[in-house]
Amino acid sequence: MQNQSNISLFSQKVTDSQHIVIIPHQNPDGDAMGSSLALHHIFAQLGKQVSVILPNEAPSYLSWMPGWEIPIDWTKNQQQAQKIVDKCDLLIMVDFNTPKRVKDLETAMMQCNAFKVMIDHHPFPDVESANLIFSDTSVSSTCELAFQIITACGFTPMVRTESATCFYTGLITDTGALSHNSSRPETYQTVAELMRYGIDKDRIHQLLFHSNSYNRMRLLGYMLCEKMKLLPHLRAATITLSETELAMFDHQPGDTEGFVNYPLGIEGIDISGFFMEKDGKVKISLRSRGNYAVNKLSEQHFNGGGHLNAAGGESSQSLAEAVNTFTAAIPSILTGQQD
Ligand code: 5GP
Ligand code: MN
Repeated sequence: MQNQSNISLFSQKVTDSQHIVIIPHQNPDGDAMGSSLALHHIFAQLGKQVSVILPNEAPSYLSWMPGWEIPIDWTKNQQQAQKIVDKCDLLIMVDFNTPKRVKDLETAMMQCNAFKVMIDHHPFPDVESANLIFSDTSVSSTCELAFQIITACGFTPMVRTESATCFYTGLITDTGALSHNSSRPETYQTVAELMRYGIDKDRIHQLLFHSNSYNRMRLLGYMLCEKMKLLPHLRAATITLSETELAMFDHQPGDTEGFVNYPLGIEGIDISGFFMEKDGKVKISLRSRGNYAVNKLSEQHFNGGGHLNAAGGESSQSLAEAVNTFTAAIPSILTGQQD
């Protein structure tokens, strides 16, 4: 349940605004795109001028989402995006807890004089970065939280199949199709509510999980067979993919989504690290189960963060060095001795 005065304030701000801007984190995933587009659709129904500005390109595996063509990519249309940010009166940050998660869009976002709202489910929100913060780590996804807020504000008459589809997509992608972060009854109540808006659940699952490109499937096979290394004494596994290897499979953004989860399917492996070369740096995804805090590890070693069991970061080291940094840090999370 959200604090009633925060709901009243948010509802009032939406009602009073003409131009609303919604910004998700960089490398947006299903939850970031889902919450951005769903809120876009609902506020547009309320008669608002609404823009979604992405810090960078969205992955094409989500290109079927209703409203996919709407967002403006900061890296491609900076001038246009800057003008929109300058004239907005309400700015909503979704699915991230600190401004640095929007990378090059950070300055424009933070210099904007509009009333700022953060809607997010990551731990440790930067409380200085917004005027109003909805932060709840118990929810499955930002989409679940955003739908809760929309409901509490009394905006559900504006929800249509399109917005419900977007909310559902974020909830499903952030929970691995309800396999993790989904043990609260409220999550299933949200699913039940969304089903009432006529969403085509089977089609969404088909598009999300059974519409791989041939190259992605071959890259997955290569990764599992050649690149996954087990470290049973650390209950861990690592995966590396270089730019050359990615090029062998005509890699497209989003192709490696979910790869980091595969090692956790092996008995005795509770920690997984995925390391991929990108734009001269190494992009890192970490996953764990139980109390092994990969967000702390990422914060300390990879300038990143995230959830207890799902985190990400970046490194300027080589692939091999970044893997060494990771393996050297694992004992501290096995014993819970970070900080
Ligand atoms: P993924 O591995 O899917 O990219 O990200 C897993 C989780 O870690 C997500 O909740 C995401 O928001 C967070 N995350 C990913 N990359 C970063 C990063 O560079 N910095 C921070 N603070 N969080 C990240
Ligand atoms: Mn999320």
